[in-house]
Amino acid sequence: MKAKRLVVFTALLGCLLAACYTVPQTGRSSFNIIGASQEQHLGVSAFDEIKKKETVSSNSVHIAMIERVGKRIAAVADQDIPNAKWEFVLFDNPQANAFALPGGKVGVYTGILEITKDDAGLAAVLGHEIGHVAARHGAERMSEQMALAGLATGLAIGLEASGESARTRNLSLLAFGITATGFRVLPHSRQQESEADRIGLTYMAKAGYDPKESIAFWERFRDYNKKKGGAPPPFLSTHPADDKRIADLQKLLPEAEVYYKTSGKGQ
Ligand SMILES: [Zn+2]
Repeated sequence: MKAKRLVVFTALLGCLLAACYTVPQTGRSSFNIIGASQEQHLGVSAFDEIKKKETVSSNSVHIAMIERVGKRIAAVADQDIPNAKWEFVLFDNPQANAFALPGGKVGVYTGILEITKDDAGLAAVLGHEIGHVAARHGAERMSEQMALAGLATGLAIGLEASGESARTRNLSLLAFGITATGFRVLPHSRQQESEADRIGLTYMAKAGYDPKESIAFWERFRDYNKKKGGAPPPFLSTHPADDKRIADLQKLLPEAEVYYKTSGKGQ
């Protein structure tokens, strides 16, 4: 038993020493000790859980829109997310929300469609959410939690790689920003947010959507939140400081415009 533990610990240590992931599009080195295939597996099972709890929409016009825009973003993001089996599901839920999980699993809540308005607005949201996946932000958060937990959870995950326990599953839901009870979206760090913005802007432009529409979306979203008042909706709490975000996106616009013009797709 002792020997086995030592082997696992040594493997984990080796993993730690080489625990870097270079984020596509930005080149940032992030701390990551979760294997890509395991991360994907966790993403897919988290998505299955969500599909069981949420109501899948039957609005064929909206479903067609999600798939049309989703496929164009996915075609660009595909090289950054190897082995993704893309799936875009619209949930009947009034929350202004959307999310993407490792493995290419994307959920959109009907509540956000009144703010996205058109294909380009939706492309801004999907680009951002898929940007989180390309940057492997969920696995990064999970790695940080494991490091903080003194590797105990890491050992558990290493030993249970073949079949995830309820504990592992809960951890993955948490890491991907969704709690097991009610799928409340947890805030990403500010760094992860602006990174997803940057990747998302690039993706939408390369997919042939005018990147200026990203700024228009975030302005509509800011206004929606102001009008709504009261407690911020989940999407807002994960996406703080709307004005700062819009200002940062403005700075990135010239580069994105070049991608848009050379995409050869137009809208
Ligand atoms: Zn985000």
